[in-house]
Amino acid sequence: MIPYGRQDIQPEDIDAVLSVLQSDFLTQGEAVPRFEQALCELSGGQFAVAMNSATSALHVACLALGVGAGDWVWTSPNSFVASANCALYCGARVDFVDIDPQTLNMSVSALAEKLKLSAGKNQLPKVVIPVHFAGQACDMAAIKKLADEYGFAIIEDASHAIGGRYASGEKIGACCYSDITVFSFHPVKIVTTAEGGAALTNRADLAEKMRLLRSHGVTRDANLMTQAPDGAWYYQQIDLGFNYRMTDLQAALGCSQLRRLDAYIAKRHEIAVRYMDALQDLPLTLPSFDAASALHLFVVQVEERKRVFDALRAAGIGVNVHYMPIYRQPFYQRFGFSPADFPHAEHYYARAISLPIFPKLSAGNQEKVILELKKALSA
Ligand SMILES: *Cc1c(COP(=O)(O)O)cnc(C)c1O
Repeated sequence: MIPYGRQDIQPEDIDAVLSVLQSDFLTQGEAVPRFEQALCELSGGQFAVAMNSATSALHVACLALGVGAGDWVWTSPNSFVASANCALYCGARVDFVDIDPQTLNMSVSALAEKLKLSAGKNQLPKVVIPVHFAGQACDMAAIKKLADEYGFAIIEDASHAIGGRYASGEKIGACCYSDITVFSFHPVKIVTTAEGGAALTNRADLAEKMRLLRSHGVTRDANLMTQAPDGAWYYQQIDLGFNYRMTDLQAALGCSQLRRLDAYIAKRHEIAVRYMDALQDLPLTLPSFDAASALHLFVVQVEERKRVFDALRAAGIGVNVHYMPIYRQPFYQRFGFSPADFPHAEHYYARAISLPIFPKLSAGNQEKVILELKKALSA
């Protein structure tokens, strides 16, 4: 089976992990700060807090911004469930904003309309979480403008988008339009640490809070304590945190992977251009992306999706669907969402198929995908 996404592990990655294995610290050593430094350098964000997943990073990002019971958090329905679950972990309520049929990202006009309606009902969101779907940046300048007007904070879910840029040219992770930006390092994403994630921010207070929350709410910083330390052994728990730490094994793998980030993105663009060229005359909708996309996914939309999907799977192509709208998940049905409120997410979900795209996809295997898709569409 040709998968839709797959990690690339080189000998230098293995060497990097082995050297941590043979060192004094498997966790809480020097590799995590080194990885955080590398993330800041590549994205332009001032502070990076590495964690054991993007899900954990989204959770502590919400907490750092004060999300709690009675608050609303809005996100895109066209995302992985973690983009919404993070708000529920904090006791907040979740709502969704329909997508733009072109970019498949949160629609700015739908957001503006929903904000206007919600202002009247005193139900404005505390935080909005735009998701850079497939690696294509949301219209962050417009979302930031609405944030200033309506007073909400922004967490960018950039799980698909490390190495990408905004329309304005700034790098994703620079947090020039948001309070916090979250990356994922799951093996199907752009670079991997096996499991792992990170939160980037330019605000020292948010970075400090997220560092505290990723490690039990415990501090050794005397400035944060309620009294002078009793001695050199002394630490205090000053908040209710978690164990969301990344290990040094993972961070060393991440540092090694980041050296190939630009090459990975270039390779994804090569593959995407080949698809665009080979599929242009077929009865399907091609994705719209620009030169600054990280191209985590390559999604086409077809009629008779189920038949085409099954034919591709039967031919050994590991196609996938990203995503069933989150409000359609059985767990979310208790909140009473109505699919009719999200016509573009519905229309997209009925037609979407993610084709294989990853740096090590061979030209031969991509030709096979193209051939099988042509066959399925003409059947
Ligand atoms: C993968 C993903 C996550 C969760 O990432 P983990 O690192 O697996 O926790 C969150 N949001 C989106 C959009 C994702 O694709």
